[in-house]
Amino acid sequence: MHKIDDKLAKVTARIHQAAAAAGRNPQTVQLIAVSKTQPAEAVAQAYGAGQRAFGENYLQEALDKQSALSHLDDLEWHFIGPIQSNKTRPIAEHFSWVHSVDRLKIAQRLNDQRPPHLPPLNICVQVNIDDESTKSGVSLAELPALVAAIAPLARLRLRGLMAIPAATNDPAQQCAAFAKLREALQALNNSGACLPMDCLSMGMSGDLEAAIAEGATFVRVGTDIFGARPKLN
Ligand SMILES: *Cc1c(COP(=O)(O)O)cnc(C)c1O
Repeated sequence: MHKIDDKLAKVTARIHQAAAAAGRNPQTVQLIAVSKTQPAEAVAQAYGAGQRAFGENYLQEALDKQSALSHLDDLEWHFIGPIQSNKTRPIAEHFSWVHSVDRLKIAQRLNDQRPPHLPPLNICVQVNIDDESTKSGVSLAELPALVAAIAPLARLRLRGLMAIPAATNDPAQQCAAFAKLREALQALNNSGACLPMDCLSMGMSGDLEAAIAEGATFVRVGTDIFGARPKLN
């Protein structure tokens, strides 16, 4: 299990290096350790190495892990997977962040179901940046209307945009996709359709350097911290 400590240290070093190369303060890039399909013990191991933010895609698996780890009271849970509308209540109750909001109905339900004793739920809108038919996310064309509709929801804090670009090993293509997301965020902020958004959730194990070069504030890394996953996803 010490492997996780080593891998986490390597990913953190990559983040620092990429930030330095981009002339950015590394503190402006937050690492989300994506623990989907990994056991609670793997999360506890990463926690022991100082990691606090974890990303999960599958609701029941996440809830089971959260209860197994309830003694660790400063874990920060991010929901990053596709959302079915009948699953919004436990997401609104058990997460600090949701990165995968891609339609108004989901946003409205999360808003209505966010418990009053908790702070507003932080959300990112997921954008289908390369217009892939297999991927979740709102199109760039429909993004401004969705953002304008979500902005007034008082129990949500609209923080930014998330994307999973088409897989490629070409750094130039990786950067081009991430640049589109950054430009979309800037355009929305300039439009005044919402309060200024400060988050770009982009970059995974294979492309975090390109994402940081283009302004990522969250990178979501699974494989390079926890090792390969069983082929569920
Ligand atoms: C699985 C997943 C990740 C992590 O991907 P890796 O390539 O394992 O780093 C990041 N973001 C989302 C939305 C995911 O589903």
